[in-house]
Amino acid sequence: MVPVPVRSPMSPSRRALVLNATFEPLGIVSSRRAVLLVLGTKAELLHTTERVFRAEWVTVPEPSVVRLVRYVHIPRQYRVAVNRRTVFARDGSRCQYCGAPAENLDHVIPRSKGGPHTWENVVAACRRCNTRKEDRLPHEAGMVLRVTPVVPHHRVQLLASCGGARDDWRTYLGGAIDHFEPLTA
Ligand SMILES: [Zn+2]
Repeated sequence: MVPVPVRSPMSPSRRALVLNATFEPLGIVSSRRAVLLVLGTKAELLHTTERVFRAEWVTVPEPSVVRLVRYVHIPRQYRVAVNRRTVFARDGSRCQYCGAPAENLDHVIPRSKGGPHTWENVVAACRRCNTRKEDRLPHEAGMVLRVTPVVPHHRVQLLASCGGARDDWRTYLGGAIDHFEPLTA
């Protein structure tokens, strides 16, 4: 086992899946935060990695999956931030106009025309389509979206795919994780 100081900075791979008391995926936190949940008896350890956290008085296996002891109510409207990583994950890193590998984000209704930065108005796009569309609406540029952009349903699955889901998360995330392309960048 490789010792990890409890106060070590969060690295993208050092993440833990947090489940509600009902085993429903709730979110993804740094594994350090997951350790604190376990030490505070707010969560139980379900899966660990091969590493350990070591403080002066305690050694804890690094959590991979923890489950909250008490049920937490999460509002339905909780939304994932709209950014390059999350939109690319939703869109499978493909241009939503032509299907080529995406390089940029495109505002379907351009920001200059009041288009909002929301899931319904932001898509992944390749540089060619981005350049061709300019500051126009898709139909003005003779372009058609392949899929109408929507808010992703599987919030936690999407977040997991942004940083790479661990194998032992899959049981809890279900098949939905496969809808999203893992991003390793
Ligand atoms: Zn394109």
